[in-house]
Amino acid sequence: MRIPSYIYLYDGGKSKSLKLESILEYLKNIFRKSKIQIREEFITYYIKNSNSSEKEITHLAREMAEIKVRKIENRNAEFEPLPGEIEYEKRRLSESSNKSFGILYDGFELITTLSKLISKEESGLNHCHIIFTNQLFATWDEDDKRYHARVSVYGFPSIISTTGLVEALAKPRGFYLKKQMGIDVNVLKQEFVTRIIEYDDPRMTELMKRYVMQAIFYHTTGNLFCEDKICCLYNAHWQEDVIQTQLQLCHKHKEIVDQISQFKQGG
Ligand SMILES: [Zn+2]
Repeated sequence: MRIPSYIYLYDGGKSKSLKLESILEYLKNIFRKSKIQIREEFITYYIKNSNSSEKEITHLAREMAEIKVRKIENRNAEFEPLPGEIEYEKRRLSESSNKSFGILYDGFELITTLSKLISKEESGLNHCHIIFTNQLFATWDEDDKRYHARVSVYGFPSIISTTGLVEALAKPRGFYLKKQMGIDVNVLKQEFVTRIIEYDDPRMTELMKRYVMQAIFYHTTGNLFCEDKICCLYNAHWQEDVIQTQLQLCHKHKEIVDQISQFKQGG
């Protein structure tokens, strides 16, 4: 297993309760030899550092407008983005304080678009880029022929969405049932507080650590997800599972993590 020498965390989650310093400390204890760095929001960082021209920003805005998911049930729907859509993206790209996230992007296309911004020097596998964003993205599911919103998509770079953590994972069935029965949502949120995740959830930072671990494991091994439900590298679909398992590891992954952090105990 070749651990990347550099891990970059981009701070674009725009959630008050997401503290990247805490994630950095957590990673430092495991990946002791890697240099881990927190950077500002990904696109802002690259626009600043590459001195992007107006033309390049317009080009990026156009690409962003092109990778919007237009129809949940049609993967190949091709649309020419409207000038207003490109303008909207341009505004969003140039105002780093902009918090809007009303658009759903194709997750893999988003990774491709963002990867083009990474400099050559930081493009090898020795560099692991993990982007926190509040944008919502989805991936196409061949089985039921539709897009599904995701918390994360792994690749080069990997993207993790704070909005996805709230919107892409399922809440308990009882929550939806009671909501259908007309029970006030705020009352329900109280009742289900230990089983659902909300915007600016105080557990946000802790819950996000599993996704960072998944991103680094994917980057390092090329393997997606663990089969063991109790393991934080498992691909959980329910908010409840994410809350309950937190950072637990299965036997196999615990050994690997112990080895990496050189704290292997026993035989
Ligand atoms: Zn595992």
